[in-house]
Amino acid sequence: MPAEFGATPWGRSWTRTVESTVTSAPNPLLPKARSIARNHHATLSTTVGAVTAKVVVSGTESTVLIELPPWSEATRQDAERLIAKSLAANPGLATGDLPDSLESELTSAGITFAVPLAEQVATCDCKTRKRPCVHILATLYALSMRVDERPRLAVELRMNSAAAAEVADPDWIPLAELDAATFYG
Ligand SMILES: [Zn+2]
Repeated sequence: MPAEFGATPWGRSWTRTVESTVTSAPNPLLPKARSIARNHHATLSTTVGAVTAKVVVSGTESTVLIELPPWSEATRQDAERLIAKSLAANPGLATGDLPDSLESELTSAGITFAVPLAEQVATCDCKTRKRPCVHILATLYALSMRVDERPRLAVELRMNSAAAAEVADPDWIPLAELDAATFYG
C-alpha cells in the first residue's frame, strides 16, 4: 500500500514533525487529523514563511496560521547551490518536482526544511485549550500531502520572498498579491 502521507521524502519529513508529538502515549488527535486532511477538509494557502488553512470539522470552520522561520542567508545560499546542482544532474523533472536524492543531500548538509513543532508559531482560532489542536495537526498533514505533490514547496516555504521570486513558477502566489481581508477573513 503506498504511503498515504509522506509518499516522498519531502512530505515524509513534514509528517514526522506531526508524529513527533507522540511522546509517551499515542496522541488521540492524530487519526482525526489524518482523516480531516485525507478528506480535504483542510484548505491550505501557502506563502513564503507561512501556511494558513481553513479547517472544517463537523460544520465548524477554524482558521490556522503556522509561521515558519526563514532560512538564514547562509543556509539559503547553501540550499540554492545544492538545489541548482541537483536540478542540473536530474534534467526533465516536472515543474515543482525535486529529486528525492536532494532531500538527503540537504539533510547531510545540515539543512532542514520541515520545521519541528517546537519552532513553529502556530495559532488557531478554535476554543480548545490543547495545542497543537486537531486543526493545526490536520493542517500539517495537509501540508505534507501538498509537499508530496509539489516538493519544491518544501524549500520555497523557507526562503525569503526575494529568493522565492527568483524560482517562481505559475502556481506560486507572491505574498503581496494575497488579499489580507479575504485571506484571514
Ligand atoms: Zn484549533
